[in-house]
Amino acid sequence: MVFFPYVPRRSQAAIMQTIKHMLNSEKDIVFESGTGSGKTICALSSTLQYALENNKKIIYTTRTNAQQRQVILELRAIRNKNKDNTEEIFGIGLQGRSNMCLLAKNNPDFAKGTPEELSKICSNQKKKVKQTIDKPNKKGCKYFRNFTTSPEKLEKAMNWVKEKLPTVEELIDFCDKNKICPYEVNKRLIRDSSLVIVPYIYVFDLMIRNMLFDLLAVDEKDMILIVDEAHNLPNYIRDLYSSQLTVWMLNNCMLEAEKHGDPSLATGKVTTSGFCKILTDILIDLRDTYVYGILENGLRKTSYKKTDAFIPSQEFETEIISRIGITSKTLHNIISDLIAYGEKIKEYCQKEDKLPRSYIYSLGVFLDNWISLEMNQFTKLVVDANNGKNPRIEAFCLDPAFGTEILKYFHSTIHMSGTLEPLEEYRDSMGLADDIELVAYPSPFSKDNRKIFFVSDVTTKYSEISQNEKIISKMKNHISDICNKFSKNTMVFFPSFDMMSSFMYNGLKDSVERCLYVEEQGMSQSDLMNVVSEFKNSSSKKINRAAMFSVMGGRISEGLDFPAEELEIAVIVGIPYPKPTARQRGLQHYYDMKFRKGWEYTVEAPTARKLLQSIGRLIRDENDKGVAIILDKRAPRFKKYIKDLEESKNLVEDIDKFIEN
Ligand code: SF4
Repeated sequence: MVFFPYVPRRSQAAIMQTIKHMLNSEKDIVFESGTGSGKTICALSSTLQYALENNKKIIYTTRTNAQQRQVILELRAIRNKNKDNTEEIFGIGLQGRSNMCLLAKNNPDFAKGTPEELSKICSNQKKKVKQTIDKPNKKGCKYFRNFTTSPEKLEKAMNWVKEKLPTVEELIDFCDKNKICPYEVNKRLIRDSSLVIVPYIYVFDLMIRNMLFDLLAVDEKDMILIVDEAHNLPNYIRDLYSSQLTVWMLNNCMLEAEKHGDPSLATGKVTTSGFCKILTDILIDLRDTYVYGILENGLRKTSYKKTDAFIPSQEFETEIISRIGITSKTLHNIISDLIAYGEKIKEYCQKEDKLPRSYIYSLGVFLDNWISLEMNQFTKLVVDANNGKNPRIEAFCLDPAFGTEILKYFHSTIHMSGTLEPLEEYRDSMGLADDIELVAYPSPFSKDNRKIFFVSDVTTKYSEISQNEKIISKMKNHISDICNKFSKNTMVFFPSFDMMSSFMYNGLKDSVERCLYVEEQGMSQSDLMNVVSEFKNSSSKKINRAAMFSVMGGRISEGLDFPAEELEIAVIVGIPYPKPTARQRGLQHYYDMKFRKGWEYTVEAPTARKLLQSIGRLIRDENDKGVAIILDKRAPRFKKYIKDLEESKNLVEDIDKFIEN
């Protein structure tokens, strides 16, 4: 606890004690500790002390840049308290070139590049700098030129970073003003840091991880990994290893092929654009057959509207082979040709100082991966997206453990979150060892500060609301009663954007007599932050505080803090069960086969986490007070996760009583 910069609560001392013990015995730990309990500072201070005493490095992974910023702020607090160790207590935040490259920042075309594309641009720019370093006509990235040719600028930047411990945003700002590359400055400083704070991709993408480990120049066994907000990680890894091919992408391949002479493929039987057209037709036919269920006579098999469906594992490639009339060997040759043409297009773009992007290249890589996929950890789907305009096929990764082999090699790993129960699910999903330490710390805050009610007269269960319209109007009355009756900042969380808009445009919007803010689907981060900050500011008004509509599992419910009066009432509209899509059924089946816990691990646990994350916005410290109301009679199914759940027969009265007390 030497490094801990505040007066520790008893629960924080317990967390640090456990971490110390497990670091000493080189073990791993998965722990849950409620939102606002100080996980970040506990993990950081105890791990940093151990790392400095034992010559280890810490990799701290976060999901969002806001979490990364928080870690830097806590690191500064640790350093302020431990002035004797100022030099050793040093860490940096790393983000990808898409955020840190100043050249990309000032070039809208480059700004859209993927990490791979930006890495190519960067090495090309650096090459130009090196080739023209002694020539009068200088070429290449000016920020890199200053980095290599101006030792004063570099020293100034490095000293500034070591002294200030800046957030990545502050570093970018400083380097922009001093015309030096922040990405390169950071890379140079990695070896001097005891702590690097990185997005998940730096650990779970093989290529990026290798780059990071090369820069760190220490063995995995001398690294400690901290995973923050770990409940997000299994889905993150699934997405990272899944791949898809859309009609939109095939259209772009055709445009690209036509622009570059539309070369013929393999045997000359088909041109590149002709091949893409055949793929588009197959994709649409697969969607019609498996998602729409259209029969040969043009009728639909069922009126139920699905959005996705399983496809037999080799159907796509078999269709390609039969429609073009080729062998599977020729198909492999076609794929090699696509990759080779794509490479040439990328080189051409690079020479022209454009983004080195080729859709044809990506198509070749996708097909190569699709054909050789090991089906035991993946499933193949056809998905109808954008109201039928952009169907796709998808190789969906069912098992996050597919990408977690690396975890075995670290000195220790610490996985933590405010909502991780059941901890066994996380351990099993991530493929962690059976004997790993699993700890759930109770909330350190007084139970009297929070109430959670549910009502039994409403539900969002589809089979019930489709037969009884009164349920929806009762639900609307509950929401508007709560919003109108109490002058407290109130957030209403819906299970989805679709459900939110159907409520809003069926009268709810007009019945809320408060200043109402709404999180819209696809809103940019800055627009969302503006809306949230206006909502928060309403809490300072004496009367007419605001209401806000948002969704469970979204950016607000999973990532933003609303201390004190910024949020005092949370209304949860229904239970956010996952939709029964083919993807969800595949997942459930896989977990049934692997752990015999399909429902518990893939339906119940993620639903409980979404509920708890939304409720968790209410209480961030010991002084916060708040009331949550779940509008669904199925809420008691989650009693084992929400132990203080109570039924309310008269919501307004019960909320009033809690507020008065
Ligand atoms: Fe971008 Fe830095 Fe590379 Fe220049 S050196 S292209 S600023 S990342």
